[in-house]
Amino acid sequence: MSKVLSNGDIADRLSTLAQLMSMEKANPYKIKAYRRAANTIRGLGESVDELVRAKADLTVYSGIGEAINAAIREIVLTGTLASLEKLRSNASPELIAISAYPRLDPKRVLRIFKKLHISSTEALHQALESGEIERTFGSRMTAHVRQGLVQVGAILLYHAHDLVLSIESYLRNRAGATQAEAVGDYRRRVEVIEEISFLVETGDFARLTAAMEGYGGRTSLLESASDSALFALSSGPLLKINLADKRNWGLSLIRRTGSKAHLKKLAAVTGSLTALEAKGSFATEQSFYGSFRMTFIEPELREGFEEIRQARRGTLPVLVTQADIRGDLHMHTKASDGSHSIEQMATTAQTLGYTYIGISDHSQSLKIAGGVSEEALWEQIRKIDLLNEQLGGIRILKSAEVDILADGSLDYSDELLRELDYTVCSIHSRFAFEREKQTERILRAMDNRFFTILGHATGRLLLKRPGYEIDMERIALHAKQTGSFFEINSSPDRLDLSAENARTAAKLGVLIAVSTDAHSIHEFGTIRYGIEQARRAGLERSSVLNCQPLNALIALFKR
Ligand SMILES: [Zn+2]
Ligand SMILES: [Zn+2]
Repeated sequence: MSKVLSNGDIADRLSTLAQLMSMEKANPYKIKAYRRAANTIRGLGESVDELVRAKADLTVYSGIGEAINAAIREIVLTGTLASLEKLRSNASPELIAISAYPRLDPKRVLRIFKKLHISSTEALHQALESGEIERTFGSRMTAHVRQGLVQVGAILLYHAHDLVLSIESYLRNRAGATQAEAVGDYRRRVEVIEEISFLVETGDFARLTAAMEGYGGRTSLLESASDSALFALSSGPLLKINLADKRNWGLSLIRRTGSKAHLKKLAAVTGSLTALEAKGSFATEQSFYGSFRMTFIEPELREGFEEIRQARRGTLPVLVTQADIRGDLHMHTKASDGSHSIEQMATTAQTLGYTYIGISDHSQSLKIAGGVSEEALWEQIRKIDLLNEQLGGIRILKSAEVDILADGSLDYSDELLRELDYTVCSIHSRFAFEREKQTERILRAMDNRFFTILGHATGRLLLKRPGYEIDMERIALHAKQTGSFFEINSSPDRLDLSAENARTAAKLGVLIAVSTDAHSIHEFGTIRYGIEQARRAGLERSSVLNCQPLNALIALFKR
């Protein structure tokens, strides 16, 4: 029998199929479905190869339907996929070379090949390193090629959530760990994860290491020692496992969770942590902090800012939690590019215990996202007034996600803006403006008395697109002066503001909305990611706009 295929091998074949299908004008939904299934498979701990051979039903996993199930069975049982081989046999040599990197967009890469007169991925790599791609095609194309050529890499925090659960259960149920807890960047909720790190307790670490090599069918062991092991996960990140014993579990958690800067500041107070581990016994984190007269430091704060000093003085912030949230101030409906009606959004929000929501569809200039015309917004305003009379228990606020135009003006007339309870003002165009010009554009927009919240402040898409350049401190100061607010966009691909920028804004006294930017009733749950980001920024309930009760909120909106 042939070698067991790892989940990564199987996922690669599905990704390559999707990639080659994209050159054939295939149904885009079908292409997306293959990509989604590939992601699902990369994140599974169980070996898909074994599952198929045991005739298990793969359609129980999200994103795997009948057709994809059949394709996976074919890959496992025959080692190949006829539809993929057929596409390959028709493909040019250039395209076949590109298909070794399933994350590259073949259309874009073929354009680079043509223009630079190259035909191999080695030459593509050289053109990337020499800066030729940057000079000829700009920064977005460069980012795409760089990410596409990298085989092992970072993943976003929300993808790590499921992966961590799957690793944890594998460690406990299959690898003999009596205790297993995720630490490191993940536990601090860093938004991009390059290494997932676990602390384990077990009587047989060598056995645990051997068992982990079977995680996801096959996982390569990169380094191992008597008390640590490093693996390369097929889903991208590295997996680091450290052994700890019960007696010092708390101290080990502390050592493996804090950032370098945090641990350095901590050791300045407590003395060497390694020395403490040798002689002391700290079974819990609380016992450690207690014996040095510190209050418990939430993992999200262990970055080396002021948390050690605050813990000694007892002045650590009480971090905001999901239970503190009273409403959601950024969402879209069918009127622009959302999937549900205002009523559906309102009744769903009510089941979450919210007392208000704000409807913020796109404004007229954003044609690709179904921007709402002035007349249509007037109509929506009347409709919301009516709904507020009919519905009890929840207040629907009238808003819009208003484009900040190139010159800093807002995308609706003052007569119309005046009728809204508040606005979310965002940049959706001209990302390439220079820092000074982009900053001025936002400052001018804030001068408008109908400007309320700055939506997704830098426009970044994690691992895809850096944000546009702005002077955050100047903008935060201006927000404070004009009575404007910021937003943490909970969309897990954005999480923009960054924790760092949110910290800057909050220090200057600017309140921050934690919003979902939901485009359907199913996206309200993403608030979890925005809260994680807010906690990393050290935000308390009092710094979060939508933790305010309705009356206080409306008073804050007046300027
Ligand atoms: Zn937007
Ligand atoms: Zn939006």
